[in-house]
Amino acid sequence: MKTTLDRLVQISRPYTRNGTLANYIPELTKANANALAICICDHTGNCTQSGDFNTPFTIQSVSKVVTLLYALESYGEDVFSRIGVEQTADAFNSIIKLETRNQGKPLNPLINAGAIATIAYIAEHEGKGTFRKLSAFLRKMAQNDAIHVNQDVYASEKRTGDINRALAYFQKGANSFSASVNIVLDTYFQMCSLEVHVKDLARIAQVLTNNGIIIETGERLFSEKTARMTKSIMTTCGMYDSSGHFAVTVGIPSKSGVGGGILSVVPGRYGIGTLGPALDEKGNSAAGVELLSLLSQELNLSIFQ
Ligand code: GLN
Repeated sequence: MKTTLDRLVQISRPYTRNGTLANYIPELTKANANALAICICDHTGNCTQSGDFNTPFTIQSVSKVVTLLYALESYGEDVFSRIGVEQTADAFNSIIKLETRNQGKPLNPLINAGAIATIAYIAEHEGKGTFRKLSAFLRKMAQNDAIHVNQDVYASEKRTGDINRALAYFQKGANSFSASVNIVLDTYFQMCSLEVHVKDLARIAQVLTNNGIIIETGERLFSEKTARMTKSIMTTCGMYDSSGHFAVTVGIPSKSGVGGGILSVVPGRYGIGTLGPALDEKGNSAAGVELLSLLSQELNLSIFQ
């Protein structure tokens, strides 16, 4: 596995030049645009890494998967009374469908509007403790107590987060949720600013690979049903308005973030984390997508095989 990963990282590295760093959150422009890394954990918990795996990055929208898992596991399918499960052909931070399609009900939980709605739903039950609960759940999935908020990115998100504010206030104004907008946005910004490494993403993915069980301890964090629903939504919505193309070329339930991370779940086989901060025009890691595509072909990982 190590030689395969080293070779594929080497072939994919030039693709980092096909992307650019996210600059709408100024702090993210400090990332190394040439970085590329992967970690893959098998179903026994054995992990193999390659490339710049010591490079830290903020989890960004990959955290939306963890938020969704927490909401589904805690409150069941009622979550879908507030957030849909349909794909969008719009950008990840688009507001347009909130007004034109569903009167304040976001299309799915893996776009900004939907993650904000999911956090609002949780916050109606957990109040100020929402971030503490969600981040503890994420640390547990990653089995890494050291995961913390990158305060510089958090401050940068807060300073420039007006589109996210618009998404939250529009939904609150449409009576889509009753939670405090301040608590909801603060939780959202902090979740996006959690600093991780590719191994953390691979471990989080691996719990989904094993349908909710931490393989090392045998502990069940969520039900098979929660895992199944989440993997389905990752397949159809996890790569934003590139999800269809990604399903065709890679075929692995995944979720990307503008920090350059991608979390991928090969059911029953592998949990994968990749990093490549240079993004394509949809906001997905340019080299990360290429690397996953090569890996999928080489190891026959597409779920549509
Ligand atoms: N924090 C980012 C935002 O709200 C997350 C978006 C992303 O990773 N696509 O815009």
